[in-house]
Amino acid sequence: MAVTRRTVLLSSSTGLGLALLSACASGSDDASSSAEQSPSPTQTPEPAPTPTPQTQVWEDNTTVPHLFFHSLVADTDRAFDGDEDAAGYLDYMATIEEFETFLRQAHERGYVLISPHDIYATAPDGTVSSKELEVPVGKKPLVLSFDDLSYYEYMEGDGFADDVALDDEGGLTTTYTDAQGKTQQGEYDYVPILERFIEENPDFSPNGRKGVIAMTGYNGVLGYRTSDLGYKDENPDLEKDKRTATEVADAMKERGWEFASHTWGHLSCTEMPLATLQEDMGKWKAEVEPIVGKTDLLIYPFGADIAGPEPYSEANAKFAFYKAEGFNAFFNVDASSPAWNQYGGRSLRQARINVDGISLKAAVEGKNDVLNGFFDPHAVLDPARPASIAGS
Ligand SMILES: [Zn+2]
Repeated sequence: MAVTRRTVLLSSSTGLGLALLSACASGSDDASSSAEQSPSPTQTPEPAPTPTPQTQVWEDNTTVPHLFFHSLVADTDRAFDGDEDAAGYLDYMATIEEFETFLRQAHERGYVLISPHDIYATAPDGTVSSKELEVPVGKKPLVLSFDDLSYYEYMEGDGFADDVALDDEGGLTTTYTDAQGKTQQGEYDYVPILERFIEENPDFSPNGRKGVIAMTGYNGVLGYRTSDLGYKDENPDLEKDKRTATEVADAMKERGWEFASHTWGHLSCTEMPLATLQEDMGKWKAEVEPIVGKTDLLIYPFGADIAGPEPYSEANAKFAFYKAEGFNAFFNVDASSPAWNQYGGRSLRQARINVDGISLKAAVEGKNDVLNGFFDPHAVLDPARPASIAGS
């Protein structure tokens, strides 16, 4: 059935393309109604296929883009207050307002969320190959990831959420302590914001995909101080926090979120020697994997890759190590083009574009137009940012 639908779709998609694109541009999501009304080009004794063809095969997986964010600034007054951390927040974080405008515009422009797992398959012998990706007609795939969902110690009191939590109905929320010291639950970071946005706009995530969370371990996970190495003598609730964090991670996975390793200690995989990376992965597997589960995704801290643009080879000892540890897809950072994907035989490498003060500043100053295909940077930019926009 799926094959038949696809065949029909491909034969008719050329004629529909323009109409569908204009429908997207005007904010209409109802691509299927256009298809229903199209006259059949040839007389055929078979009844029209039902349901109406709705998906098409994305023609080239190496064109799939990937954007990433850090935790969102919930209180711009406290984050951008000029203290020693403010410049870093201006550079590397986006605000809640910026994220919400981004979501609306990416959705209006026809993007739909997919997972990296939708574009590659790993054979039992470790071979990694491109996998057929289906997207709704007229839509464009987009991967989102989010780094460091840890609510690191240094962020306390600076206007960010405290942790990801479950609300009374079992839904995903965040805990937040406001400037007056009052603690409450609500939409103070992207997890509940994206959950609600997709509830309101289910077509933004046709297969229920949300985002990939890049997780370290040294300050615990998800805002819970779960690290034995870091908190054994400091956190009397260590075991309880591990259980809570595991429940939250499970709930996130059930709702389409995925987790990646971001190394335990937020290390530069370019600079650190193999032995250091090996020891670090031991800590990640001991302290983080039991909570977030196994993953074959490695998101490099600082975007610091283990090779140049050439495909990974087994002669690269760091690649051989990470591959043996079960990793198949690797993510660096490159804001110089809208998409970069490399199928290297035994790996997928995908470049990510940062959406933060640095990239927004470059965009509004006309120095880099890579974000313009996804949203209007001028509209996304939060007026609460100072005139300098970024900290650097
Ligand atoms: Zn990071």
